[in-house]
Amino acid sequence: MPYRTLNSYLRQRFGCKVYKLGLDGGMTCPNRDGTCGTGGCIFCDGAGAFAAKNTDSVFTQLSQAKKLVASKAPNAKYIAYFQAFTNTYAPVSVLEPLFTQAMEPDEIVAVSIATRPDCLPPDVLDLLSRLNKRKPVWVELGLQTIHPQTANYIRRGYDLACFDSAISALKARNLEVIVHMILGLPGETEEMMVETARYIGHSGADGIKLHLLHVLEGTDLAKDYMAGKFSTLTLPQYLHLLQRCLAQLPPQMVIHRLTGDGPKRTLLAPLWSTNKKLVLNAIATAFQENNLVQGSEYTPVGSR
Ligand code: SF4
Repeated sequence: MPYRTLNSYLRQRFGCKVYKLGLDGGMTCPNRDGTCGTGGCIFCDGAGAFAAKNTDSVFTQLSQAKKLVASKAPNAKYIAYFQAFTNTYAPVSVLEPLFTQAMEPDEIVAVSIATRPDCLPPDVLDLLSRLNKRKPVWVELGLQTIHPQTANYIRRGYDLACFDSAISALKARNLEVIVHMILGLPGETEEMMVETARYIGHSGADGIKLHLLHVLEGTDLAKDYMAGKFSTLTLPQYLHLLQRCLAQLPPQMVIHRLTGDGPKRTLLAPLWSTNKKLVLNAIATAFQENNLVQGSEYTPVGSR
């Protein structure tokens, strides 16, 4: 592959096929409970990656999610993925039993925790560091963009300095960090997106998730979209941007995602993204035709 895929990284690291099991830890986020705001990020539909709040125990959620995969891959291993909302947004006394329970089963090889840089106080960082000594703990940060005007527009609720401190604190504790970036945010030029990719490439992050901007029903972003304030990316535009961004990333950075999985029921645009097979084939063809090589324009810090 012209880029470092998550699958190949997982096979290399754990020696077999590894699946992610999505979990809901029952948390909310500071952009919704009034700490930073109440409306949430402009693109977030409040489902927090799940259609409905799952109040089952971690153990029950893991067993249910495993059933869906186990029939096709009986000897697979799994990553327990705390995906919904901000998964460190609770006291250590709540987080510790939750994460400990998730990493207990033998077939769980790692725990991945999606959160925000402003929700990582020292005691939570120390907890993650302790757990990381038992099994790998990955922390996912939703940066989306480095540009302050876009961050304000999407109501992200923290600044770039906050992201920088979080990543330093996580790396100082040997935690693996994955950063999310969105392509196609309103008002961003191609160069702005490339700058964000370059920044992430130099941030010390171990992995990246590249998302296509999805406009979901019921969001404030949808209001702006319906009012004609911006357009979403076409497939050729997206392919071009992906290639430009991948060229900026260090060759060793793991590419966790190249598309977004928007909920089909509520997706307003871009509708071409619902045909995942078409998108993946188009990505593969474009990368081959253009001889894409991850990191072809990456310059390590110090040699710039
Ligand atoms: S995207 Fe994440 S941080 Fe933003 S409102 Fe939704 S759950 Fe909260």
